[in-house]
Amino acid sequence: NSGHPIGNALWEAGNVAAVLRYYAAAPERLFGRQIPVAGGLDVTFKEPLGVVSVIVPWNFPMPIAGWGFAPALAAGNTVVLKPAELTPLTAIRLGELAVEAGVPEGVFTVLPGKGSIVGERFVTHPDVRKVCFTGSTQVGQGIMRKAADQLKRVTLELGGKSANIVFADADVAAAASAAPMSFLDNAGQDCCARSRILVERRVFDDFMGRFEQAIKAIRVGDPSDPATDMGPLISAGQRAAVRTFVEDASAAGHRTPEIAFRGTAPEGAGWWYPPTVLLAQGTADRAWREEIFGPVVSVMPFSDEAEAIRLANDTAYGLSGSIWTRDVGRAIRVARAVEAGNLSVNSHSSVRYSTPFGGFKASGIGRELGPDALDAFTEVKNVFINTEI
Ligand code: NAP
Ligand code: MG
Repeated sequence: NSGHPIGNALWEAGNVAAVLRYYAAAPERLFGRQIPVAGGLDVTFKEPLGVVSVIVPWNFPMPIAGWGFAPALAAGNTVVLKPAELTPLTAIRLGELAVEAGVPEGVFTVLPGKGSIVGERFVTHPDVRKVCFTGSTQVGQGIMRKAADQLKRVTLELGGKSANIVFADADVAAAASAAPMSFLDNAGQDCCARSRILVERRVFDDFMGRFEQAIKAIRVGDPSDPATDMGPLISAGQRAAVRTFVEDASAAGHRTPEIAFRGTAPEGAGWWYPPTVLLAQGTADRAWREEIFGPVVSVMPFSDEAEAIRLANDTAYGLSGSIWTRDVGRAIRVARAVEAGNLSVNSHSSVRYSTPFGGFKASGIGRELGPDALDAFTEVKNVFINTEI
């Protein structure tokens, strides 16, 4: 449905299985507490909410569905899931597999349809007690506004504009060779894409030389070929939107950006777009500020640690980010200072099912995955038992 390279698609299917296996053990670990009180016994329970709705975007249709429905079901809820209009097939198949696996009918229901109709109904229907939404910041804000009418719980996983910070003391060769896939995975249609690269000025030229070689080595092509690194964009509309940041910038009323270098992409049928590296002219650049959701990155030099942190945090978003340095103290200082939910040092990893995932600031509210995911799908109930009568 989404044109993912076969390597990605297999990983994604495996991720759903791994997430289900991980949360299969959760019902036995849904611990409450026993709290010392005068005159009795006090215990807490984590009660299911009831009906939980999960609204999924098109960029990672399988994993993002699983991150919602697996812990929600494990916590004792029923789930209604709406895939994105462009990518309904894997969600429907997951629904069939659930019935085959013995999940009673009505416990996990997949309802394809338009966001403005099915998604909207999940938000306004009084029996739905929670909306677990992944998608754009704008739609997420609208959901939160409407959810307020019923004090409906929300988890929002939204957009990003994450920074990849490369210090001069880093293994620059390793940082440069890892940089392409940090923004090209899923052709950049990734909320965790490191779409801003900050490079310490002393190693800027060295980094850019190596980065260019690494970009040229990226294989963009047939998604069914296991050697493919990057496939096409999902749709004509998405490609047109990406172009407004680069070649169609002036037609869209924006300044034309400066291209440092590009990779290659096939011609002809398919929504192909080449890996594109921009030299940021300043922090006001549209490509520096807005989420592009395509294979485009902007690079900017910085002078010292304080400036790197200031530039990294100069964004409405706060989803992920990376820090490349050999200095352990600096790695920890910068990781603590960057306002984002998921940071990696000398790596671009973001989402692991066993660790929490979610955003600061406009990147969202709440966390998914990890050992505490069931907290987002339960209410804490406190019960006091009088032992004095
Ligand atoms: P989107 O337009 O916000 O759509 C996301 C989902 O919401 C789709 O299923 C969509 O349905 C539905 N929807 C649309 N309008 C709705 C409404 N009024 N009420 C309820 N549901 C509604 O986002 P997208 O274009 O699919 O995905 C791109 C965005 O998702 C990017 O900004 C990206 O950063 C973000 N994202 C975030 C994460 C994360 O974990 N933080 C992960 C992936 C993507 P239809 O499409 O069927 O209309
Ligand atoms: Mg949309």
